[in-house]
Amino acid sequence: MQPAYQLIKAERELAGRITQLLAQTVVLDVEPLIAPWKSSQRMLDEGIASMLRRVGMLPEVRVLCFATNSAREPSVAPHLPGKQVIYLASARKPLNVEPYLTLPRPGVVIGDQVVTDGLLARRIGYTFLHLRPALRDMPVGPLLLRGGGELLMPLLFAQRKSARA
Ligand SMILES: [Mg+2]
Repeated sequence: MQPAYQLIKAERELAGRITQLLAQTVVLDVEPLIAPWKSSQRMLDEGIASMLRRVGMLPEVRVLCFATNSAREPSVAPHLPGKQVIYLASARKPLNVEPYLTLPRPGVVIGDQVVTDGLLARRIGYTFLHLRPALRDMPVGPLLLRGGGELLMPLLFAQRKSARA
């Protein structure tokens, strides 16, 4: 069985974890994994291109799905030969699960927020790869959300975590 939760301490660990979990679908939160909050259009475009290169080279990955609750969109729809690439703006994580239901499994959701990314992962049965950015880099909105979200951690993930131990 796939683990429900794994903490990622550095972005360079991502490819290894995705491979280990044999993930066919990788759902990627956008901020701050792809581009920092309130960064430029160019940073978003370059962040997407860079992530497509890094995760796109993993042979087992069939679908890359960028999903952000913000309205930000790349200047061109991202694509990669041989892979299905999806970009969801205003994704309404964790409420809207419909876009993921037909994607190949197993899957992972990679993101920084327990209440959006973590809960989405839990709802669709994917592993939550929790990437925790440095506190000093976080604007106050996401920071508050993180504080609240991490209070929920035992509730959301403790059971399956202890089952694994
Ligand atoms: Mg985020």
